[in-house]
Amino acid sequence: MDKKLRLQTLTGMRDILPQEQVYFKKVQKSVESITNYYDFKRIDTPILESAEVFSKGTGATTDIVQKEMYSFRTKGGDLVALRPEFTPGIARSYIENGMYNMPQPVKLWTLGPCFRYERPQAGRYRQLLQFDIEAIGDRSASIDGQIIQMSYDILKDLSFKNLNIEVNSIGDQECRSHFKKILTNYFKSRKSSLCSDCQRRLKENPLRILDCKEEKCQRIRSGAPQIIDHLCEACHAHFKQVLEFLDELELPYVLNPYLVRGLDYYTKTVFEIVEKSETGAIQGALVGGGRYDGLLKVLGGRDTPACGAAGGIDRIMNLMKLREVKPDKKDEKPMIFLAQLGQLAKRKSLKLFEEFRASKIPVAESFSKDSLRSQLNSANKMGVKWVLIFGQKEALENFITLRNMETGVQEEIKLDKVVEEMKAKVKS
Ligand code: AMP
Repeated sequence: MDKKLRLQTLTGMRDILPQEQVYFKKVQKSVESITNYYDFKRIDTPILESAEVFSKGTGATTDIVQKEMYSFRTKGGDLVALRPEFTPGIARSYIENGMYNMPQPVKLWTLGPCFRYERPQAGRYRQLLQFDIEAIGDRSASIDGQIIQMSYDILKDLSFKNLNIEVNSIGDQECRSHFKKILTNYFKSRKSSLCSDCQRRLKENPLRILDCKEEKCQRIRSGAPQIIDHLCEACHAHFKQVLEFLDELELPYVLNPYLVRGLDYYTKTVFEIVEKSETGAIQGALVGGGRYDGLLKVLGGRDTPACGAAGGIDRIMNLMKLREVKPDKKDEKPMIFLAQLGQLAKRKSLKLFEEFRASKIPVAESFSKDSLRSQLNSANKMGVKWVLIFGQKEALENFITLRNMETGVQEEIKLDKVVEEMKAKVKS
């Protein structure tokens, strides 16, 4: 047996290889353009925060904090954690930087890695990439509608079809604690039939029993009371308005009374967007979010309503790859190839190449290849329209030969006019 130690990525972590970057870039571009359109500003918070930000924010009884958080003591003795999600860090930043003095709501977005020590399975990673949108400081239902719409738009922009928005309301502190009692009573008499996790949840957070994936728990929940019937007047009115916005926006939503989401801070609206796939390979929710009117106060800030969503970029990229969603042609494929022959031409090509870069004109090359034939072969494979041939004669006399690969026609262009002329050709 080969005992040689091979270094490899940690369980649940992965490289985004060069050939996969096109998908990552496409997601980033969609998130950036849609958040920009709705005037959300980018924020970047540290990957490492005081563990308290999440134990207080995400919630001490949540799976994320209890089982999945990468936390450790620093050499100085501080208990810190790699962020398992963005919202508590952004809320911390809002408070720390006095953002209540800005016009409300403060609309923020971000994107980057989060860390959860999850059981590895399809669509679940321990280092996961998320995008995140947050609107802090507004309690109106139109904000919930906008967050849902933006999440949906991002997925649409990435060519997702058959999207389904699942929505529910889990009420506020008051109506929820009343409902929890009703729910606890219902499940108590059926406790022995629940899975061991749900037996624990019965004590800590009976709402989580509603979204347990175990079949036996799902059978029991089907007879359980539904929170929607126990909302207080204000929460009921808010939810009704959110649904009216979704109707107005003609978004495809369904009510899911079992949707509660795994984080403690949610109040009122919760939602998830899933793709019903023909290939059957549903990876769970692509985006999830909701309102969290209590979080900022819990973290030491003022009473500030807020609503947000997070999207799973790994899952989105996996599905894009599966569908072979094509990268943007304009971005990925240069239309010009620069071929060179001989030392002098090679030297001058480097400079010319730099001039093209400064003019933002993408140009392909294969400086490592010496023969013109192999360079033309590369150009052919790339499917470029024009090849600039820079040989001995051209280099000495300061001109370049331009070959139109579609027609085979060649012409000569003065070296100091090449960039300008090619710019005009690419534009036309
Ligand atoms: P959450 O922060 O749990 O509300 O999750 C938001 C989105 O992030 C989910 O809808 C998933 O698409 C994605 N996500 C959550 N956990 C993971 C994970 N372990 N691996 C990959 N994606 C994840």
